[in-house]
Amino acid sequence: MSKIKIAELFYSIQGEGRYMGVPSVFLRTFGCNFKCAGFGMPRGELSMEAAGIAATHSLITPFQKYEELPLVSTGCDSYASWMPEFKDLSPMLTTDAIVERIMEILPHGEWRDEHLVITGGEPLLGWQRAYPNLLDHSSMSRLKEITFETNGTQKLTEEFKHYLGEWTAEQWDREITFSVSAKLPCSGEKWEEAICPEVVCEYEKRSTAYLKFVIATEEDLKDAERAVKEYREQGFKGHVYIMPVGGVERVYHLNNRAVADMAMRKGWRYSDRLQVPLFKNEWGT
Ligand code: SF4
Repeated sequence: MSKIKIAELFYSIQGEGRYMGVPSVFLRTFGCNFKCAGFGMPRGELSMEAAGIAATHSLITPFQKYEELPLVSTGCDSYASWMPEFKDLSPMLTTDAIVERIMEILPHGEWRDEHLVITGGEPLLGWQRAYPNLLDHSSMSRLKEITFETNGTQKLTEEFKHYLGEWTAEQWDREITFSVSAKLPCSGEKWEEAICPEVVCEYEKRSTAYLKFVIATEEDLKDAERAVKEYREQGFKGHVYIMPVGGVERVYHLNNRAVADMAMRKGWRYSDRLQVPLFKNEWGT
């Protein structure tokens, strides 16, 4: 039976992108190919916030669960879902056990109009082999909408491509979306590793896909324009969203209005981060 290492599994409101405002189950897988330590930092500098928390966890006082972990204002706001120091907080669960937990947290004990978000970390890194088992489980048959939140760098495996092809052909009333949060230089990641148009076009061939960029400055906007040009040249047709940087309210409020203005100027879509004003971006939201 397939297993997935689960960093978090919780029920909340989707705060970002196409399904903003929709009650959703979030399945956060463990592991990522990036670090994104540049978010919220001056260009060229990398955050050490998460590394400091990891040192405390390993050497001084181990945290027992996610809710005890401090939030960060710089770097990756879901750092514990990929840093090896926190892997003990993420159990490896069978797909049956995951479905059982999902049914427990759904308010009516079954899928109604809720949406499933498979996020990370990077959910397409190694777990693609387990998703058919998860999504084909009999208790998941009433689930109609699923989003993979990915950084857009991981190729689909042949098996998963085949599965998605069959899904699109046979399940006309169910939809899979790839929300591609491609990382611009403000993340601290390298362009040639982060902007992978041919990979994202493969997602779009089999389902709905859109791009979502985290923006703090006009320089980031210019980077987003350059990236969109590269995706379009490869044939990508999906929508483009821009979203303010900021895992904590103080940072989010600094630039959400400016990013909304940029979206209007460019004719792109604005994505909020509703989880920040609604829930302070705490773990489990
Ligand atoms: S890709 Fe996402 S999960 Fe991975 S380090 Fe970057 S922000 Fe964090």
